Amino acid sequence: MSIIPFNDGVFSFVTTNGCTAKCSHCLMNCKPGLKHKLNFEQMRKAIDQFTRKKNAHLVVFTGGESTLLGEDLLRAIRYATLKFLKTRLVTNAHWASSLERAQNYVKKLREVGLTEIDFSVDDYHEPFVPLDNIRNAWLASKGVGFDSVTLANSFGPKDKINPDFIREYLGEDLPEVSSTSSPDSVDLKRSEDGTFYNIHTSTLQKSGRAEDLDSEQFIGVENQELLDCACKWVVVEPVLSPLGHMWACCGIPADNIPILDLGDANKERIDTILKRASKDVLINALYYLGPYKLCKFVEEHSDIRFKRNFGGACEICSVLTGNKKAVEVLRANEKSLAAVVQAVRFLKEKGIPTGLLNKNTR
Ligand code: SF4
Ligand code: SF4
Repeated sequence: MSIIPFNDGVFSFVTTNGCTAKCSHCLMNCKPGLKHKLNFEQMRKAIDQFTRKKNAHLVVFTGGESTLLGEDLLRAIRYATLKFLKTRLVTNAHWASSLERAQNYVKKLREVGLTEIDFSVDDYHEPFVPLDNIRNAWLASKGVGFDSVTLANSFGPKDKINPDFIREYLGEDLPEVSSTSSPDSVDLKRSEDGTFYNIHTSTLQKSGRAEDLDSEQFIGVENQELLDCACKWVVVEPVLSPLGHMWACCGIPADNIPILDLGDANKERIDTILKRASKDVLINALYYLGPYKLCKFVEEHSDIRFKRNFGGACEICSVLTGNKKAVEVLRANEKSLAAVVQAVRFLKEKGIPTGLLNKNTR
């Protein structure tokens, strides 16, 4: 039993928990004044280990607001570029308060080789980062050679800033991509200048600070069985956290969260941490079975009961891994879980639909 770490060739830095904004939907609980952050040396070491993997191709810088790292961010992007890696920066565009400022900063980013830039834009960012900043950053990023320029839009049923609003605001007919879009359904055509300009949508998840939002702001998932899916990211796309810990994924902040906090990269090599994690029964259970099935397993093996109004798989995972007793139940039953995982793995390898197994695992 083992997952292949880095198998997608993507590695992420959650560079800091500090931010210029305090969005009420922030999954990472970031805000001004929080000081944990990675330095250049930590990122350099991680990039060195990552580039030893033969399919390594993309390093993502996200946060918090990564631009608060100043020169260390630019040095890390340059270092990754010199290692032939593509780089993506996710930012709230607080630095784009005028078109000139935006152009100057985008120039710096391009000079160190940044290939992809994502701007977060929605109702929850707007009180902290005016829409004018987004327009400035967007205009400054056009025609300067990025592989992609993305507007990352997270919205609920009552929100004003959705893809149609953004198209009208910018006066552009941009394609929409979501994490659930099938590749065939998206027009991935690049514009004439060679860049893929797009809106990336996601629905709000009730995790992090978003737990305090009114439930009317979320798109409910009526049939909760639809959330019964395996997680294809866990350990496959690992993350280095602002504390220098390895997280299994970037779905939720995982420092000191059982299962998903894989270890301290200040004390151990990343390779060692990931090798251990890839053999962990519960990490494998997330990969082959998913958090929904694990919640069911806990319910069948204890008196713990979970709510039934989840909005997404990561939300389930957050509730599950944040419940110390539930994790104890899973650890105490590792042997039987390992058997189920082996069976699902066997079916997957043979190309047999794993749905056949669902009835037996509940
Ligand atoms: S959602 Fe983004 S911009 Fe908003 S507080 Fe969190 S990290 Fe900062
Ligand atoms: S389901 Fe869990 S392991 Fe997978 S990405 Fe979400 S939080 Fe991470």
